[in-house]
Amino acid sequence: MLSTKCSPAALRCTLCGREIVLGEEYWACNGCLTCRECLPELARRELFPCREIRGKEDKP
Ligand SMILES: [Zn+2]
Repeated sequence: MLSTKCSPAALRCTLCGREIVLGEEYWACNGCLTCRECLPELARRELFPCREIRGKEDKP
């Protein structure tokens, strides 16, 4: 068995599964926990309705 640090249940990034350690910033959004590295991916998911492709905007 691994020796465990004296910490409560590990918090893990929902996207990459990496443990979010003490003192590290993370984003909790709609039940999704995201580390700094995965923030752009979370932003892409959460802001998907706002996504546009230049030249293909669905607007007049
Ligand atoms: Zn992550």
